[in-house]
Amino acid sequence: MNDETRRAIEQDKRYLWHPFTPMDAWLEADYEPVMIASGEGAELVDTEGRRYLDGNSSIWTNLHGHRHPKLTAAIQKQAGKIAHSSALGLGNPLAAELAEKLVGLLPEEAGPYRVFLSDDGSTAMECALKIAWQYFQQNGQAQRTQFLGLTGSYHGDTVGAMSLGKSGSFHAPYQPLLFPTHEVPAPNCLRCLQGKDRLTRTDIRLSCRCGPRPGENSLAALEQKFAELGDTVAALVLEPRVMGPAGMVMHPPGFLAEAAALAKRHGALLILDEIMVGFGRTGKMLAEEHEGVTGDLIALAKGLTGGTLPLGATLLKDELFEGFRGGLERAFFHGHSYSGNQLGCAAALANLEIFASEPVLEQVAERAEWLRNASQRFLDLPQVAEIRQEGLILAIELVQDRETLASFPADWRVAHHITEQAREYGLLTRGLGSILFLIPPYCSTRQQLEQMVAALYRASEEVLIKIV
Ligand SMILES: *Cc1c(COP(=O)(O)O)cnc(C)c1O
Repeated sequence: MNDETRRAIEQDKRYLWHPFTPMDAWLEADYEPVMIASGEGAELVDTEGRRYLDGNSSIWTNLHGHRHPKLTAAIQKQAGKIAHSSALGLGNPLAAELAEKLVGLLPEEAGPYRVFLSDDGSTAMECALKIAWQYFQQNGQAQRTQFLGLTGSYHGDTVGAMSLGKSGSFHAPYQPLLFPTHEVPAPNCLRCLQGKDRLTRTDIRLSCRCGPRPGENSLAALEQKFAELGDTVAALVLEPRVMGPAGMVMHPPGFLAEAAALAKRHGALLILDEIMVGFGRTGKMLAEEHEGVTGDLIALAKGLTGGTLPLGATLLKDELFEGFRGGLERAFFHGHSYSGNQLGCAAALANLEIFASEPVLEQVAERAEWLRNASQRFLDLPQVAEIRQEGLILAIELVQDRETLASFPADWRVAHHITEQAREYGLLTRGLGSILFLIPPYCSTRQQLEQMVAALYRASEEVLIKIV
């Protein structure tokens, strides 16, 4: 280990606290965390000069690879002018242009929209929540105070976002702190078809036959909730198509459109969390486009700057904005010191410019196919219950018992041990429980995708043999 690495690890272990990390294991004397020094394309390089494939796009943020020349140039150019000025009482051309471009991503028939800028995914969701709430309070429907979502949803770690998301295990200690919301079970095709049709083990949702509508059980439960709650529902809050932190739970095609129609029929707003799935990750610019749906409020973050800088955006119907016009007492008193940050906006504009000038979505479709083909080898492992994929989101769900689909005990941290082992073979990624994820950058080459799968496969084989 070189001096730089040793010093960095010492400082880290003494002074830092890492997110979503049981710190005892991290602090163990013989644990050597990977310290990232640089990146290039789909690769990350550590302080020892070792190269790794970035198999989860740096927690789902990176799109076009690290150090994309257009993103780097845009940030450098902007840093030469100004990094940040406040959006409280001041404007700036980059934020204004970005707002126009983001609204331009939505279909014209959805009507006029507007943008509120914030810092990250959690704040984009907090804004959506507070806008929906205040809109009804001051526009003659003060009884609309309830929020409805799917069990296992995740919308961030601030208290409002946790209340909307209630991501079971992550947020359990804070339950008493959260405001009450309503939830119904998410469609979970793997378990819904239990014992019926698990022959292929490949994307069982695509042959969903649980009822007349895709995700019937979940829709029926939603319908019932809407009937119970009547006109007190302010908003239905969903991650469109793929529920990320729940374990890449993929909804059967058509579910989103049906759920959106239910919200509309009951006069509730639809808040869509596109934070993970937005910006091409599922093969469309926004995941909701797959189903011809446009959220009344849409939260964007992660890929918004191509994975370079933190920035959040809440897109909302102008109609909602109109409900905040008038005097002081009707204003939206919410803001963040870095709202409209010029460096972030410059990066986001450069990201959109890459989408406009390069065939990014075609690239995603092509790579998704390569990844699909490569990943089929996982069917050789008897513990694989399902391989599911949407665009460049791949999830491989491992189970202890394929008949009952019983998961491995959570405290075995199967995915964690596998992904730690995969580092030995040059892959960095994270899973959840016993579900493995590959969420590669769009610039990954065929060979890089095959290397990612091979590394994860080899690590899975080695770890599984030890534990079963
Ligand atoms: C990451 C994520 C968030 C939270 O975004 P942060 O930038 O981490 O606050 C919210 N929703 C989904 C679906 C996410 O993947």
